[in-house]
Amino acid sequence: MSIIKEILKKIPQDAMISSHSYEGANIVLYTKNPKFFLHGGDIIRKLVEEFKKRIELRADQAVLKDVEETKKKIEEVMPKDAEVTQIILQPARSLAIIESKKPGVAIGKEGENLRVIKEKTHWTPLVRRESVIPSQITTNIRNVLYENSDERRKFLNKIGERIYETKRSTTEEKWARISFLGGARQVGRSCLLLQTPESKILIDCGINVASDKHAYPYLTAPEFNIADLDAVIISHAHLDHSGFLPYLFKYGYTGPVYCTEPTRDVMSLLQLDYIQVSHSAATKPIYSSTDIKNAVKNTITLEYGEVTDITPDVRITLYNGGHILGSSLVHIHIGEGWHNLLYTGDFKFKDTQLLNKSSSMFPRVETLIMESTYGSHDNVLEERGVSEKMLTDIVKKTLKRKGKVLVPVLGVGRAQEVMVVLEKFFSENKIKVPIYIDGMVWDVSAIHNAYPRFLNKEIREKIFYEDKDPFLSKIFKQVGSRKERDLVLEGGPCVVLATSGMLTGGPSVEYLKNFAEDKKNSLVFVSYQGEGSLGNKIQKGDKDIVFEGAKGMETTPLNMEVHTIPGFSGHADRNELINYIHKIKPRPKKIIIVHGESSSCLDLASSLHKTFKVETVAPRNLDSIRLR
Ligand SMILES: [Zn+2]
Repeated sequence: MSIIKEILKKIPQDAMISSHSYEGANIVLYTKNPKFFLHGGDIIRKLVEEFKKRIELRADQAVLKDVEETKKKIEEVMPKDAEVTQIILQPARSLAIIESKKPGVAIGKEGENLRVIKEKTHWTPLVRRESVIPSQITTNIRNVLYENSDERRKFLNKIGERIYETKRSTTEEKWARISFLGGARQVGRSCLLLQTPESKILIDCGINVASDKHAYPYLTAPEFNIADLDAVIISHAHLDHSGFLPYLFKYGYTGPVYCTEPTRDVMSLLQLDYIQVSHSAATKPIYSSTDIKNAVKNTITLEYGEVTDITPDVRITLYNGGHILGSSLVHIHIGEGWHNLLYTGDFKFKDTQLLNKSSSMFPRVETLIMESTYGSHDNVLEERGVSEKMLTDIVKKTLKRKGKVLVPVLGVGRAQEVMVVLEKFFSENKIKVPIYIDGMVWDVSAIHNAYPRFLNKEIREKIFYEDKDPFLSKIFKQVGSRKERDLVLEGGPCVVLATSGMLTGGPSVEYLKNFAEDKKNSLVFVSYQGEGSLGNKIQKGDKDIVFEGAKGMETTPLNMEVHTIPGFSGHADRNELINYIHKIKPRPKKIIIVHGESSSCLDLASSLHKTFKVETVAPRNLDSIRLR
């Protein structure tokens, strides 16, 4: 018997349950009895305990108050200082979404305001935090989700049916295997396919941003068939983990994507930017904004620690990865727990300005798949304090000789870390020179402001008091147009944070062309420079830089100072990686090393084997490993 039928059997007749629906792994019951809607909480809580599933009660459309009347009621109940910006009613799901800049105030003491709304309108209110920093693009992403609640209800129900009602496999065999479609012995195009008797799940779907050659994962591998794919999990928003996702939708994928809320927003932003950069490089983008929109529509977001079934035999939990906003370690529980896999994605095992270090305690782990960007024995990074001082010293010296500082940044991660460091330094030393922010960075900062619960306590508290929010500091000036950029290029000493982070296109390259010749200026790398990227070539000592200019290839001599500050990295360095194996509980039986240059993967795999006496392996792309 289906789980829904079993649940319904336990609910009293007069509850008047009129319909039910899955929302992914959650079960929603709709009632025509307003009394039961308002007071049936205890019965539902008991069912949740008994069935170990999330069960939610909502009012049937038939007993919802009229839309206009409801909006008016909500406006009445909401205190002025909650700063409500939008109220969206979704009749198909009986949901009233309230966007507010002060969600705590909107919810009221112990949820009092929400209780009143439920009582007076029978709609189920949901409060979402609206960023204090205006960003058109994040508003657009949310609106896509609100657009068609009917379609969303059907989609979520279909996922639930797959999880609870359609078992494909008839065997009792227990096996799991993982295929590496990208990101093995390389940094870029991370993509893993997990197969079990019941499931086919893609973990990450990235592109190789540093190089045009071998840019996409091996979706041509014989074991991959887009029509059989049950789910996609995205560990974090960086394009080398998420950049190929819209392509799946372009070629017919209609299933769910699991990730955190900030990952959904940031990756959409980066994917849109990727299309833009392709356009300006005169190459044809591999997908369109419609494909990105479809990916957003099919995304099911999870909180850290929220346990969710995604197929009949796979259950996942995301944990803090400490790498960028919303980044996660993916814990995968297979079958009745007969195998547990932890995939780190990119992670950091030390606290940073913005984030807490990654989680290291899990219920069970047999196999660990770990990144190794800084895995080789010479990849020991400076302490953060040292790196921060290096940065501020370079800035101080450059400004003193009337030069300009260019820091190429990935839109998300180091950019915000560097912003926090510079904001503090500039305000403490009363430096009045502007810090220009160009490219995606601004919108990403807005997303940080929308999800303070994903940040560490210190920053979270600052964001709650707007005058202390570092991202809102007047030191930062947004560069929004070509004209504004020209003013920066012609203007005096300044600091510029611009995307892309590896100088592979975008505004950072525009600034470099202009700043390169003057030896008063400084170029500062704070993040990993991929093999083949312009950033990597400059690090290796290239003194002439070749650009694709308006009149074909142009060469500019590089006279500006070049600095690399590796300590800002959002990745665990060699010591942190080894320390992670010391600290992780329980210790895995097998460690698979990915996401590093070949030498780093092999070096780390061999060191971990010697130190911990566990089985280690550094697979190549297209290898498959049986986990059990
Ligand atoms: Zn990353």
